Amino acid sequence: MTDFAAPLDDILFSLRHVAGAGRVPDWDDETAEEVLGHFASFAEGVLAPLNAVGDRQGARLENGRVRMPDGFAQAYRQLADGGWQGLTAPEEFGGMGLSPLIAAGVSEIFTGANHALEMVCGLVPGAIATLLRFGTEAQQAEWIPKLASGEVLSTMCLTEPGAGSDLSRIRCKAVPDGDGWRLDGQKIFISGGDQDMSDGILHLVLARSGPPDSGLKGLSLFLTRPGPGVSVTRIEEKLGIHASPTCQMEFDGAPAELIGEEGGGLQAMFTQMNHARIDVALQGVAHASRAWQIASAYAADRGQGRRADGSPAVLSDHADVRRMLDEQRHLAMGMRALCHIAAVALETGDAPDLVEFLTPLCKVLGSEAGIRAADLGIQILGGYGYLEEYGIAQVWRDARITAIYEGANGIHERSLATRGLRPGGGADAFAALMAELGQGDPHLDARLADWQALCDDLRAADDATPRAHAFAKATKRLALDAAWCRIAAVADAHPEPEEIRRLARSLRG
Ligand SMILES: Cc1cc2nc3c(=O)[nH]c(=O)nc-3n(C[C@H](O)[C@H](O)[C@H](O)COP(=O)(O)OP(=O)(O)OC[C@H]3O[C@@H](n4cnc5c(N)ncnc54)[C@H](O)[C@@H]3O)c2cc1C
Repeated sequence: MTDFAAPLDDILFSLRHVAGAGRVPDWDDETAEEVLGHFASFAEGVLAPLNAVGDRQGARLENGRVRMPDGFAQAYRQLADGGWQGLTAPEEFGGMGLSPLIAAGVSEIFTGANHALEMVCGLVPGAIATLLRFGTEAQQAEWIPKLASGEVLSTMCLTEPGAGSDLSRIRCKAVPDGDGWRLDGQKIFISGGDQDMSDGILHLVLARSGPPDSGLKGLSLFLTRPGPGVSVTRIEEKLGIHASPTCQMEFDGAPAELIGEEGGGLQAMFTQMNHARIDVALQGVAHASRAWQIASAYAADRGQGRRADGSPAVLSDHADVRRMLDEQRHLAMGMRALCHIAAVALETGDAPDLVEFLTPLCKVLGSEAGIRAADLGIQILGGYGYLEEYGIAQVWRDARITAIYEGANGIHERSLATRGLRPGGGADAFAALMAELGQGDPHLDARLADWQALCDDLRAADDATPRAHAFAKATKRLALDAAWCRIAAVADAHPEPEEIRRLARSLRG
């Protein structure tokens, strides 16, 4: 198997030159390079070697406790000791206070090295952000230092057997009890609901504090911890991310504290959603990039067939294999560019409409990119791609979930074609971004004009939802083309400018 190598040059090129991270006040080129370089070494040396082990062993439930695969607890200890869990947490709470853009680079590298472990550790920045915005001073003082130091990991407990995409069906009940609350009910599919790596766990639970028929408005956000009234009753057998324990949890009179306003649960949960969705998009980028890495190394080495001059060929000498390798790279670099542009817009805060549109778009396109590139990787490796030996099958299995969690892709596509096209929904800001990235390129201008006509069509339709998927596909073609216009325009800043220009040309066919 090709060892994991963090795509550090590509990430730094994308953040600095493609997305213009320098526009964000707390960005610093040197710090970013140094911090990402350190994390890349850690990921290559410690996290990546556990990826296949975790896949083979999986997490296990033994006597009500989850056991992580061999080596995971030790790796987590090193992660926590390195301060990585508190990367973006404010310094006054023991964090490093670094830019979320650096964190975007870290989380892509983390996923490329070991998606399953990233799943269990990656909810912490969102939990900290939620506590900072909605927690009381006492809650912040109690939990944020522990989250930042890695003493505690966190979960997000939303899903129930009858409430997946539609959270208005949540039944888990919260009742006042003295100064606090008690939780009763079941949650399913909870990532990291238990593990044996951190000393404690902070469970953020969305539960019904209003009457049974109170819909979304009756939901509040609570925090609770392992102990009496909180148990893991099973963990799921699944297609991929085997080392990430996907837990069924029972809350039976669990003591809990309210976070934020009663009835404000969804709003509190959604604080972390924009970041979380771009994070999932970056998981897709990580898979696309890793799939290309495995496939390009294999294709450069495996002898098969002959060149036009009759000399022995390797796979990458064949035009069709090169087509597939190029598509993988287009997806990885193009989607990384869009995610970083979205992340910069989120941090500068000066284009909220654009963020509203780009966030679901990145979630859909990033996750699709990872799955597609992994699928192409399997094809490039031929029969060996279908085996576990080269690790590409695991990339495909691990990538598959990204289109489902953090809002199933179909739901984001529907929201792009409906909310996204309303006044203030972000489509106009997105069109302006496309024109800016295209810099007058005639091919892109033509595609943009077609896309705007499609938007007008959908706005005039009684119901845009049946065409939501087609709209997302058209938006994807436009967005990737525009991203590549921008990548090509700054190619000189990449260590391989000629290769970048060749890739940009080949996207046009
Ligand atoms: C490995 C894994 C980890 C997870 N981690 C967590 C976690 O940590 N915390 C947590 O709370 N949950 C978690 N989940 C749950 C996940 O978020 C849900 O599976 C997801 O929200 C979809 O819900 P569902 O499975 O009930 O599917 P359903 O809601 O039944 O949807 C099934 C399909 O129908 C379509 N669909 C449904 N409703 C609509 C609609 N209104 N419009 C258009 N299409 C629609 C979607 O395409 C979807 O793919 C995890 C799930 C898995 C498998």
